[in-house]
Amino acid sequence: MFEKKQTEKDLVCGMSVDSGSALKSEHMGKTYYFCSDACKKQFDSDPHKFVHGSMGHSHGGGCC
Ligand SMILES: [Zn+2]
Repeated sequence: MFEKKQTEKDLVCGMSVDSGSALKSEHMGKTYYFCSDACKKQFDSDPHKFVHGSMGHSHGGGCC
């Protein structure tokens, strides 16, 4: 009866992904989901960029 599909957003490419089958990564105590290993790798290499959604904006890196 409860076939609600839980979807999460892949911050790297913007796709909706199924949280049951998606790849995931943790950053600052939150879990993020990805459609593919390539997206996960991109996130892992620079999580800050995706979490704060501020590409092109660089601050001193003092916040986390
Ligand atoms: Zn993706």
